[in-house]
Amino acid sequence: MEKITILEGRQSQVYEKNNTPAEFDITCETTSLSGSVSQRACVFCGSRVVLYPVADALHIVHGPIGCAAYTWDIRGAVSSGPELHRLSFSTDLKEMDVIYGGEKKLHKSLTELIEQYQPKAAFIYSTCIIGIIGDDIDAVCKKVSQEQGIPVLPVHSEGFKGTKKDGYKAACDALMKLVGTGPTEGIGKYSINILGEFNLAGEAWIIKSYYEQMGIQVVSTMTGDGRVDDIRRSHGASLNIVQCSGSMVKLAKMMEEKYGIPYLRVSYFGIEDMSKALYDVARHFSDNQAIMEAAKELVSREVSELYPQLQKYRSALAGKKAAIYVGGAFKAFSLIKALASVDMKVVLAGSQTGNKDDYEGLKEMCDEGTVIVDDSNPVELSKFVLEKEADLLIGGVKERPIAYKLGIGFCDHNHERKIPLAGFEGMLNFIREVYNSVMSPVWKFAPRKGGVS
Ligand code: SF4
Repeated sequence: MEKITILEGRQSQVYEKNNTPAEFDITCETTSLSGSVSQRACVFCGSRVVLYPVADALHIVHGPIGCAAYTWDIRGAVSSGPELHRLSFSTDLKEMDVIYGGEKKLHKSLTELIEQYQPKAAFIYSTCIIGIIGDDIDAVCKKVSQEQGIPVLPVHSEGFKGTKKDGYKAACDALMKLVGTGPTEGIGKYSINILGEFNLAGEAWIIKSYYEQMGIQVVSTMTGDGRVDDIRRSHGASLNIVQCSGSMVKLAKMMEEKYGIPYLRVSYFGIEDMSKALYDVARHFSDNQAIMEAAKELVSREVSELYPQLQKYRSALAGKKAAIYVGGAFKAFSLIKALASVDMKVVLAGSQTGNKDDYEGLKEMCDEGTVIVDDSNPVELSKFVLEKEADLLIGGVKERPIAYKLGIGFCDHNHERKIPLAGFEGMLNFIREVYNSVMSPVWKFAPRKGGVS
């Protein structure tokens, strides 16, 4: 097979532990290289994935229809009540709007939709063309907010102005305008907000239930199964718990600065990190020993149920090799630990939005020979899957065809999955899915592609 090379301009974003001498200095947090066909989405998409699960808000994309269609129901974020978030509204700008401006159309669309759906708030996403024609969406939002009496929040997410990560920042800025605008009555001392949890397949409900079993009050979840009124009063909580830190740590920092609420970074994937997420919160509320006792009891009960079931898969999966390419690097840490619990090896670990500290951490965790990549592309991923003889690729919807074309197993750890992978029960689902894909008899009929020369 023809040798696959890495584009010259991308070589500093790829590191192989042991083969690269000198100090570790991976390039990251930069715009994608032209021609690299990065797996990353645009700024607008980054803001949309963070805000979209707020279920009782109106989400309207100000721009051409493609931006809205491309992100319609982009996460499988489920709601226990209203489902307004699942509708994708757009001002559907056309050529004449681009020439004469889209502000009137935005005002008309917003007015009609708010009157029809009676949302608790509205988020207005600015797309590339809005940045070019210069519509004053702040002014339109302010006017509609005064007319309709609800928060109407501009999201400055013009697609061209940075990376997906800048979209996360734009989303946090919009959320911060809601935080602090609601009453805090009824919020006790042992209370938290769950940040960076998007309720894919009901994962936020699992996590929320764990904390509630420990006697902790959950004021809001941002943004999975999110509600505008909960976000408005979230400044009354004593602690922010941040998962998916790439997307939400900015909001946690802003809330710390403005309201003095400390935050903890956690992960809910795998036994080790899930247990740590509960114990860390219990330790924060150390003046209440009952919380720590409840955490210990919960972890002990869950692990004793889970552990024997995992053993069934361990003998089949031991020694199999996994390649991981996910959005935020923090998830990669958890996946490495989760795979290690069934004796699987990680041969590739990469992310779209990791920073230097994240990659330094990945380097420390990974075995010799593991490849670490930032903002990779399908050709590179294929190259390393082949060279490292991976049996499994873990990624999102864009990575699925890469795995299947190469004849190896795949696990969706991103937007489209329909089963929860977080929490203790999620760990069992995850390992079961890995087992089913890696050990599937289908690979007899779609054999693995050969290695590279
Ligand atoms: S890059 Fe621009 S035009 Fe394309 S989806 Fe993003 S906002 Fe829309």
